Amino acid sequence: MKKYILSLDQGTTSSRAILVDEKANIVAISQKEITQIYPQEGWVEHDPIEILNSIKEVIKNVINENNIDHKNIAGIGITNQRETSVVWDKETGIPIHNAIVWQDTRTANICKDLKQKNLEKEISSKTGLLIGPYFSATKVKWLLDNNETAKSKLKEGKLLFGTIDSWLIWNLTKEKYHLTDFSNASRTMLYNINTLEWDIEILKELNIPLSILPEVKNSSDNFGTLNLSGQNIPILGVLGDQQASLFGHKCFEKYSTKNTYGTGCFTLMNTSDQILRSKNGLLSTIAWGIDNKISYALEGSIFIGGAGIQWLRDEMGLIKSSNESEYEALKSSIENNLYVVPAFNGLGAPHWDMNARGLIIGITRDTNKSDIIKATLNSIAYQTKDVLLSMEDDIDDDIKVLKVDGGASNNNYLMQFQSDILGIILKRPLNTEMTALGAAFIAGLKNSFWDLSHLQSLNDINTEFKPTFDKERINKLFENWNNAVKRSMNWV
Ligand code: ADP
Repeated sequence: MKKYILSLDQGTTSSRAILVDEKANIVAISQKEITQIYPQEGWVEHDPIEILNSIKEVIKNVINENNIDHKNIAGIGITNQRETSVVWDKETGIPIHNAIVWQDTRTANICKDLKQKNLEKEISSKTGLLIGPYFSATKVKWLLDNNETAKSKLKEGKLLFGTIDSWLIWNLTKEKYHLTDFSNASRTMLYNINTLEWDIEILKELNIPLSILPEVKNSSDNFGTLNLSGQNIPILGVLGDQQASLFGHKCFEKYSTKNTYGTGCFTLMNTSDQILRSKNGLLSTIAWGIDNKISYALEGSIFIGGAGIQWLRDEMGLIKSSNESEYEALKSSIENNLYVVPAFNGLGAPHWDMNARGLIIGITRDTNKSDIIKATLNSIAYQTKDVLLSMEDDIDDDIKVLKVDGGASNNNYLMQFQSDILGIILKRPLNTEMTALGAAFIAGLKNSFWDLSHLQSLNDINTEFKPTFDKERINKLFENWNNAVKRSMNWV
């Protein structure tokens, strides 16, 4: 009888349920888009009830459409959009407000206040993060401070806060557990990654009571059971999406690194039991906890990755689909004379300039559409190199291989150029659903569906991209990129 792990991937744009068999093959996927709510400029919300219903629907669909017997589902893993915050009434289960999504910047002023109080150093050393509206802490504060119902319910001790994993566990488990895992807790900016406790001082500063926070568990652990047609199926693993992708890539070794090329790009490096403090503005975060053994990670993010390709398509009208960018780039013969710096909303690591804006430089009379498309793809690779150089500087060692996934990793031109400009091998798995696989892997560890050595021994089929540029060529190209970046900085 074939057994499966059911992986639930609750992402920013959709909810998915994925069945993974013992050989780590993805055998079925069901997906449902979720509504993006933009109440004001810079605000992004999701309806938590819609999220919950979408997850229930994809679970039902993936099981029914593939005639799976519930008895054959050995366990469930959850992976989720990180930092997105929900506050709900523990008696009625009703959220007091929409979820505030990670991209939402409404709390920029609260963050400014924290920085003005000179709290950056302390918060960063405790949480591994840099103060920003991106993390849950100030979102929770906003929810509690700006809602009359919340104020009275808070006094009565009726409220609970959770990231999306907590919200799903609370609602899916018949036990109504209020839980999260180490990886998600580490994205709240309320969790001390050194002592592994919610930080009382930060909570006090933000006026958030400890009582509304979930219990933090290992990423591979018992999170309650989901009753499906009378069958109790245990939830055995929880990981934030980027950490799940790191786990899915099997980056278990110290300093193994992956980059996910989605709308933005997220580079994570496993730093094992060491909290590596970056000199270059990268984040230190928890990768996962297994049997109370914590693995940490270094994280760098790029705001505009695939989003630059969407810009070519939607605003510039240069391509009809993202896929077309590959064909166009291959037509172009530019080498080191045209650069696009997609600093549409500033630049992240290692430049950290929120006043930078995008530019195209090096245009001549014969510059054509394909050249601009190629230069935009190249910008994704250059920005990734910027982040990897920061990581190499932080670990004082070289990164030898980069594992890749995400929508834009399907672009062969981009992957080859990435390998060329980094001068290292890239490995792209045949199946790029690394996030879903990671959640399945971490869950399956708990009930011995597989163990780490079995996972490592599975024969992965990768496409390898090998570098072809010599050092001199790389240096020339990269020097010009840096000059272009400098010109984009401090514009507004
Ligand atoms: P997310 O999880 O952030 O929604 P995905 O991993 O689904 O992102 O990737 C979607 C992004 O990848 C989009 O920004 C899209 O423009 C880009 N993309 C998808 N296919 C390609 C391609 N062949 N070449 C370049 N970019 C691509």
